[in-house]
Amino acid sequence: MEREEWYRLRNDRMNRVDDVNLAQSTKRSIGVVISPEHLDHYSIQIMSYMSLNMLSRWCPSFTIDLPDENQCIIPGFRNRTLKEVALELVQRNDPFGEFTVNSILPSDYNIVLYIGECSHAEGSNMIWIDAEGWLAGYGQNMYSNLNKRNKNNKNPIGPSFAACLGVSEVLKRHLGLQVSESFIRWYSIYDLQSDSNHVTLSNPPISRLLEVGTLHQIGCGAVGSSLDLLFSFLNIKGNIHLIDYDSVSVPNTASSMVFTAKDGLEEIDKVDSCYSFLEKVDGLIPYPHKCDYGTFIKKHDLLNDYPDIVLCLANEKNIWSTIQHNYPPLVLHATTSPNWGVNLGRHIPFQDWCIVCRFGIDEYETIPVCSQAKVDSGGEKEEILGILPFLSTAGAILILSEILRSRIDGYCLTKDNFVQFSFKDTNVGFIKLKLSRNENCTVCNNQTKEEYSFLRRQISYNQIHKGE
Ligand SMILES: [Zn+2]
Repeated sequence: MEREEWYRLRNDRMNRVDDVNLAQSTKRSIGVVISPEHLDHYSIQIMSYMSLNMLSRWCPSFTIDLPDENQCIIPGFRNRTLKEVALELVQRNDPFGEFTVNSILPSDYNIVLYIGECSHAEGSNMIWIDAEGWLAGYGQNMYSNLNKRNKNNKNPIGPSFAACLGVSEVLKRHLGLQVSESFIRWYSIYDLQSDSNHVTLSNPPISRLLEVGTLHQIGCGAVGSSLDLLFSFLNIKGNIHLIDYDSVSVPNTASSMVFTAKDGLEEIDKVDSCYSFLEKVDGLIPYPHKCDYGTFIKKHDLLNDYPDIVLCLANEKNIWSTIQHNYPPLVLHATTSPNWGVNLGRHIPFQDWCIVCRFGIDEYETIPVCSQAKVDSGGEKEEILGILPFLSTAGAILILSEILRSRIDGYCLTKDNFVQFSFKDTNVGFIKLKLSRNENCTVCNNQTKEEYSFLRRQISYNQIHKGE
């Protein structure tokens, strides 16, 4: 594939997002400085890895300033230097990209993303990000870095979210959009609060081992595959069924944090790309299924292998009614919108709205057929929606944060079941809502607790039986 064709295809989905036109934006020089201080910390390395991963999926040229010698401590990349891992990552994402490692004089660049401790970073062209645990912060011309750091805080949520914030801000400047010249914002992804000072925000430790039980991950596209990358950063235990009938295409490589250019050019199956990534993760057993969820359910023995969490990260073929008709336990869904927004929805049976209350049973058929529509493998029309790399990553982060919260006692009492965040207007912070069941929903209103307990009884019976 020629260079021009690669960028035309690769940027296609991003150019469908409001205010984004990567072909016509002025070429601005971009530098990424990774602070040499605390470079042996998990949070600084995750922030660096995620920032470079997202940046190299839309920006074809930048310079990275990072030391030669630091060992990479990110699970899956041990025994190599961070520099080697970073260079391999960006080249794998964009084979035509011009990425160099060099020391940076910030005043020589139009935009500089500064990662980590930055008390000496100055200049109106510089955006800093910092994070640890559940906390993510960023700003310009005003600084408030973390004063206390814990080298071994192995929570990837805050660092990954800080990377989303930083890269979104670089993109805004690259596109010439209106931005705040002087600001500072901190977020806690634990309770979804924000403040100009991180000291007031919640940052509890996470358990050393995350046991997720059995997951049905429906959809291995932008959000699903990016979630799999986040799983690989954790000490995690469980079974994960990867369900998707689609294969990777070049436009998909812009919004997934896992798909490589090679995956897109060779059009490998999405489940295989995610599988080969998760296969290396100790404790997590992935099972790839190249089919839609309806087909998976038909061949799967649900009575003997009931999921603990269903992740709805796809939007094809009336997926919502298929999920809800099969008496799901906790369901989580995440969506992104072309106006730089990301949503998280939660569905606990009998407590929350269900996934059909959210999306409706016939919505798929009512999506208007427009010029952007393509015919998917099922022969039905599917609208191609715009997406940006930090939107899919933020969706994955919100899903993971909810899984981590669901492991905390008293979780079911959490009131809110819908979260919105916009990267267009980040000072609004997270909007949290409690949405009610749809009294006209034809699925959840006809399901009873007895039907649910029948499934659960079967499971406990079989578990007892196996134990004997
Ligand atoms: Zn419902």
